[in-house]
Amino acid sequence: MSSEEMLYAQGAKIWVPHAEQVWESATLEESYRKGAGFLKICTESGSLKEVKLKADGSDLPPLRNPAILVGQNDLTTLSYLHEPGVLYNLRVRFCERQIIYTYCGIILVAINPYAEMPLYGPSIIRAYRGHAMGDLEPHIFALAEEAYTKLERENCNLSIIVSGESGAGKTVSAKYAMRYFAAVGGSESETQVERKVLASSPIMEAFGNAKTTRNDNSSRFGKFTKLLFRNQMGVMYLQGATMHTYLLEKSRVVYQAQGERNYHIFYQLCAARAKYPELVLDHQDKFEFLNMGGAPDIERVSDADQFNETVQAMTVLGFSIQQIADIVKILAGILHLGNIQVSKKFNEGSEEEDTDSCEIFHNDIHLQITGDLLRVRAEDLRRWLLMRKIESVNEYVLIPNSIEAAQAARDALAKHIYAKLFQYIVGVLNKSLNNGSKQCSFIGVLDIYGFETFEVNSFEQFCINYANEKLQQQFNQHVFKLEQEEYLKEGITWTMIDFYDNQPCIDLIESRLGVLDLLDEECRMPKGSDESWAGKLIGKCSKFPHFEKPRFGTTSFFIKHFSDTVEYDVNGFLEKNRDTVSKELTQVLGESNMSLVKQVMTLEEIDTLSVDTAKSSTLGGRVVISAGRKQVVPSKQHRKTVGSQFQESLASLISTLHATTPHYVRCIKPNDDKIAFKWETAKIIQQLRACGVLETVRISAAGFPSRWLYPDFYMRYQLLVFRSKLDKNDMKQSCRNIVMKWIQDEDKYRFGNTQIFFRAGQVAFLEQVRANLR
Ligand code: ADP
Ligand code: MG
Repeated sequence: MSSEEMLYAQGAKIWVPHAEQVWESATLEESYRKGAGFLKICTESGSLKEVKLKADGSDLPPLRNPAILVGQNDLTTLSYLHEPGVLYNLRVRFCERQIIYTYCGIILVAINPYAEMPLYGPSIIRAYRGHAMGDLEPHIFALAEEAYTKLERENCNLSIIVSGESGAGKTVSAKYAMRYFAAVGGSESETQVERKVLASSPIMEAFGNAKTTRNDNSSRFGKFTKLLFRNQMGVMYLQGATMHTYLLEKSRVVYQAQGERNYHIFYQLCAARAKYPELVLDHQDKFEFLNMGGAPDIERVSDADQFNETVQAMTVLGFSIQQIADIVKILAGILHLGNIQVSKKFNEGSEEEDTDSCEIFHNDIHLQITGDLLRVRAEDLRRWLLMRKIESVNEYVLIPNSIEAAQAARDALAKHIYAKLFQYIVGVLNKSLNNGSKQCSFIGVLDIYGFETFEVNSFEQFCINYANEKLQQQFNQHVFKLEQEEYLKEGITWTMIDFYDNQPCIDLIESRLGVLDLLDEECRMPKGSDESWAGKLIGKCSKFPHFEKPRFGTTSFFIKHFSDTVEYDVNGFLEKNRDTVSKELTQVLGESNMSLVKQVMTLEEIDTLSVDTAKSSTLGGRVVISAGRKQVVPSKQHRKTVGSQFQESLASLISTLHATTPHYVRCIKPNDDKIAFKWETAKIIQQLRACGVLETVRISAAGFPSRWLYPDFYMRYQLLVFRSKLDKNDMKQSCRNIVMKWIQDEDKYRFGNTQIFFRAGQVAFLEQVRANLR
């Protein structure tokens, strides 16, 4: 009997594809015989079927894992490492046992329960303290504990990389990890530090989070927080922290899609307007920048209470009353700016509209208030909203703005001010958190968007997916290194045959004449356009295996990412990459009489990067700035493009991560309805693929995923050989005897120094043998 025939015997359990559930369990009605060309099965739902097979049986359906392995707390210990096996294991844990955490090798998979779990109290923190990762149930605290112990033992830097799609639970996980570090690394004398670290979250969320259709509290930026520890006689104390942010979605300041809101802080401020009569605020619905999404409130959240919490947290972080008063002025200034009325202009003495220019009335109340709040001359603002300056070599021309151009200039300014304010706040937080910390070891916590693919994918998705491509590479290299070290330690020779490296995809994006390079080049062209850029991409990038041109036209292109092929709509790429804002308007603000406005506007463009989202897909494309009567000459500006800035900060992030021992958390969103413990298979599979869990399983499966310590193996499988082949005093030899009696193919196992290594499927096979013998 072949091993296939033994495994696919009558009664054996297998997985078959299913239209909705993706996979369905089934039982063999008859034993499989080599060459038969079919299998008789009975599915879980009770239907009898015949499954066609190739004559050589190479397409036999996946087998179910043996019962002893169901509900394993580490997916890589499953004998059959295939998609249905992984999925079923997670499902049993999540749906039947309400367990949200599962390991997948070095990854912690966290499925969002959408329910309060009694998992995070001080007693649980104490329970995990001092325990190795395998001792207790998988938990974010177990991962944090491992990182902390390593920090104490080896004084090295660590990182915890959290990813997942919007609403999957990244920010919650990152916060619990930080709470753990604050608890275990706290000292009596420095309670202030932990308080500050924890208080930074509500501030960052007020300014950087918003309600979206997918998450009521969605972070619209990526964040890398370094918790700094100081070694004091072998104990690591939390001493401070630094924060680095990525890609703030600034388009939200001026535009929100249906059902979404602007940043929380604006609504909080409107709710608290009675405290600040000088801001001349009104109900939030009265502001253009706040009412577009038609979603003014968040369930179970009081913006007024949240405002108090934000201010309270800002006080903990050392913002003075004056600073806070100035910050709210800037916020209110942005809101009034958005309400400035830009109207049609008519040619003198006629009723004919002049579409090349527009009007803002001198007495526009919001124009006046904006000027007052930001301490600039309203007249100057008005002037540079109504026209722009085009410079050429040694002269300049003034060109009137059309309505669209004036609105675009106003919106660009609002976004610019907000992004700068955000950068300023991060800067203040950093100073306060990192007050005089000496050179310390750190644990970095990265909370960043996971891989994204939508109906329409634009520059933002491109940046995010590019970042994920880099993070995935870092992950692959790390896993590869660990596996190698493990095999080396066990004295085993092996080669990882199909180790996946995504460098070719990264080359497509980063190399000379690659996507980013061509984009920057196009942005420098006087007449550059999205379409002509796409044309160049198609011409020059087709040689990259990860590039695919559209079937027709030049409005999109495809990139084959590690998790999926994504079609990018080129519309808006140039504008988003250039990120232009009127120099004259920023200058007006830069000369404000309020020192904070001045300071904010002149911040160096370094740390906080911003990007524009949603605009092209929702507003129907670039705002075409009317060229007026003169040819537009590109101003000779040397500002870095958003793409190249992002590339640089990503490179620096990756090199930081490379210098740490990384830990990975992959958050999974089980359904789109925020319903507790509801499981949607198709959605979950897609995420497991996108966040690299299935890839990890594949890498594991390519090596020797099942490992048994000799004594454990001996205990379980001793009955597979005669007594004479067993010797308790020579476990190793006894185990060899067992394995070699049953597994003929020598490539299916390796005998290491302390463990036996098996290829995927072998343990299930031995289980089957064992079951047959009993
Ligand atoms: P992300 O940062 O990935 O967009 P969040 O961390 O903001 O997502 O989580 C979205 C929501 O999901 C939270 O507001 C919370 O209601 C719920 N949630 C996430 N993780 C957990 C958890 N471990 N326990 C309970 N609820 C959670
Ligand atoms: Mg978040």
